[in-house]
Amino acid sequence: MRVLITGGAGFLGSHLAEHFLGQGHKVIVIDNLLTGRMENIAPLFSNPDFSFIKADVTNFLHVPGRLDAVLHFASPASPIDYAHFPIPTLKVGALGTHKALGLAKDKKAVFMLASTSEVYGDPEVNPQPETYWGNVNPIGPRGVYDEAKRFAEAMTMAYHRFHRMPVRIVRIFNTYGPRMRLKDGRAVPNFITQALKGRPLTVYGDGSQTRSLCYVSDLIRGIAGLLESDINGPVNIGNPRELTIKQIAQIIIKLTGSRSRLVRKPLPKDDPQVRRPDIRLARQKLGWRPEVSLEQGLQRTIDYFRASV
Ligand code: UDP
Repeated sequence: MRVLITGGAGFLGSHLAEHFLGQGHKVIVIDNLLTGRMENIAPLFSNPDFSFIKADVTNFLHVPGRLDAVLHFASPASPIDYAHFPIPTLKVGALGTHKALGLAKDKKAVFMLASTSEVYGDPEVNPQPETYWGNVNPIGPRGVYDEAKRFAEAMTMAYHRFHRMPVRIVRIFNTYGPRMRLKDGRAVPNFITQALKGRPLTVYGDGSQTRSLCYVSDLIRGIAGLLESDINGPVNIGNPRELTIKQIAQIIIKLTGSRSRLVRKPLPKDDPQVRRPDIRLARQKLGWRPEVSLEQGLQRTIDYFRASV
């Protein structure tokens, strides 16, 4: 295959690029480097099957030659990133999805949208199945991301129905692993950096809110399986082991051998109280399930951060 990945210099995009190159495919990465980083893809340049285009996917895209798959992974994805870049976040989810869909249609390629558990907002059902419509505040600080992704899903399904295009929508739940930015502001990089530096771990609110953390290699395997499938609707990919944020902080303290303690900081507005994927669809249709335990995955992530802190 010849695969185009928007946002391919980001955390997930760069793991995907590496995966498809490893499978013998050709990979073209498009990234405007707003939150993506060249160092994530630097090792790939020596591979003749890899190419990189620095461009903003919200503008018209011209990619010469054949394409078999277009994977739209470009977007700020951490709450502090989309708070810093609210308008680019809305634009890449809306205009960028439209451009990437148009390109996939022109090339007769399968289109995949990186969607998110944020489409469920602050959910009133737990765990969240794909059939749940969500509870999103459109005008809150997270709305720029949540609504952009909801619009992106609507646009993707419209292209599927109207143009009869093959599409895939992966709803990605909290994922962690090497190549997350130390300062991306999310719980795992913050806690690991703080623990390694012997600083207090900043728990927002009382730390009773829950998240379910998926290691990046499990997610990439799920995405590859979904791409090969014929499921046009959304599919949750995530690890259903649900923990409180306080528990996650304590596990990181233990694994790093740190003497840091926990400090409380204010809970950000509209922070979801619970989050856990219902992965029955992925299990049944893709035969996929996560395999890396939280302790194993965190240990690999801590090793990566130790080398960079
Ligand atoms: N969080 C925290 N301390 C931090 C960063 C995040 O307690 O230093 C909390 C945050 O309020 C949320 C959870 O950890 O409840 C996960 O936040 P993250 O930014 O990783 O991702 P989200 O799931 O909110 O998109």
